[in-house]
Amino acid sequence: MSQLPVVPHWIDGALRPGNSGRTAPVFDPALGIETKQVAIADATEINAAIAAAKAAFPDWRDQSLAKRQQVMFAFRELLNARKGELAEIITSEHGKVLSDALGEITRGQEVVEFACGLNQMLKGEYSENASTGVDVYSTRQPLGVVGIISPFNFPAMVPMWFFPVAIAAGNTVVLKPSEKDPSAAIWLAELLTEAGLPDGVFNVLNGDKVAVDGLLEHPDVQAISFVGSTPIAQYVYETGARNGKRVQALGGAKNHMLVLPDADLDLVADSAINAGFGSAGERCMAISVVVAVEPVADPLIEKIVERMGTLITGDGRRNCDMGPLVTKVHRDKVASYIDIAIADGATVVVDGRDGTFDGAADGFWLGPTLVDNVSTSSKVYTEEIFGPVLSIVRVKSYEEGVELINNGAFGNGTAIFTNDGGAARRFQNEIEVGMIGINVPIPVPVAYYSFGGWKNSLFGDTKAHGAEGVHFYTRGKAITSRWLDPSHGGINLGFPQN
Ligand code: NAD
Repeated sequence: MSQLPVVPHWIDGALRPGNSGRTAPVFDPALGIETKQVAIADATEINAAIAAAKAAFPDWRDQSLAKRQQVMFAFRELLNARKGELAEIITSEHGKVLSDALGEITRGQEVVEFACGLNQMLKGEYSENASTGVDVYSTRQPLGVVGIISPFNFPAMVPMWFFPVAIAAGNTVVLKPSEKDPSAAIWLAELLTEAGLPDGVFNVLNGDKVAVDGLLEHPDVQAISFVGSTPIAQYVYETGARNGKRVQALGGAKNHMLVLPDADLDLVADSAINAGFGSAGERCMAISVVVAVEPVADPLIEKIVERMGTLITGDGRRNCDMGPLVTKVHRDKVASYIDIAIADGATVVVDGRDGTFDGAADGFWLGPTLVDNVSTSSKVYTEEIFGPVLSIVRVKSYEEGVELINNGAFGNGTAIFTNDGGAARRFQNEIEVGMIGINVPIPVPVAYYSFGGWKNSLFGDTKAHGAEGVHFYTRGKAITSRWLDPSHGGINLGFPQN
């Protein structure tokens, strides 16, 4: 029997140890050792979490808007004061460096702040005297129990894309975090309770496919917000829809940065480094392909390589630039693309396997890697690598670059680097991608806009947070009302017309 601590569930306002007999390992990626296990839910625990959320819904729905808002404000204050604790938890299970973990929390906190003002977005419309003596108005109401299923790469930010909006709108939540880094969700649950959220409004169900399927199939779950890889996003979308649920399923990505010859190459090189190697490339908005319009490739590569030489990869607690990959399995998979690149005739300019690392010998290390002359038929180009492997593809013109990007299967994010406003304007119009940066490498929209891609990066038509998030977690009613005045009388079987 393992003596490691087991991360439990959080159901009805309390920690609930797993009873299924199944657990999964949780690693500290910089140490390369299993430090914890996580409970993997079975049907009893799935039903308990959903039942707690269902029982909490009527009271939470009926709380005044002011009360719901107060809880959000209190949560925001606690989170802001204590986010250092959460960052340490994230680094110890995900591996990203502490400053980046804090950055992810800050982006999640933006959504909490957006939710603090959600009452403004929940207002209905009113038309007085739509017909004589008849008023028509609309209102939006919460759905009930909503499921949130999140990926490993943002264990705090991705849940926070959703639950603040869902809760402020009056729903109750069951969150199923990634089994690779489950502790952030439990920490957030405890903080929500401290902020005054009633028991059962927010529950954390740890688990794997069994828990996901349980949420997708349960009749008491009204809606599912999913973020993860494309094949699972598609599966979640189809299965949820078949079971009559509202689903938004955000999938994988392969984001390109188009560099025109007039761009500021120092800015481009800095941006390529930050967006390619930040969080070890484990970001859905990471840049994984630099599309260089000739003759820009050679001078740009020189600047990128120069900067790569200064990066320190190591334990995220030691002030390094880049941490390890999340698991050994993932590290080995990412490294295998370097062999594929060589086999497919690309030029490996910098091989991250050769690096030195500021951390334990067994950490899941892979240094920043740069591959030039990548063929668009190679798996290095067509597949999402999700690691610190940056590809260069050379093209002859702006048009060739746009065609390349538009032919891609994903459409999450992209960026253009240029000093030509006309070219940038044309790009934002022609490119078939959901989030676009102009001289901005990772164009994650602020919380009061909505986050989501096109094509295989989003199944369903509603994105996260902003107006679309509010719309997703509420449903509309239109009310037609007449109050009789003392002069009323008469029969008329036709439609009222004026
Ligand atoms: P993943 O698809 O493996 O897992 C996501 C969630 O689905 C986890 O909670 C996991 O437990 C669950 N899951 C895994 N396999 C399942 C199965 N067979 N059936 C049902 N549920 C299953 O993704 P990941 O590796 O945790 O995260 C990385 C992926 O997420 C990348 O593809 C990345 O691009 C994507 N991502 C996308 C966005 C976005 O906004 N589009 C944001 C973050 C991450």
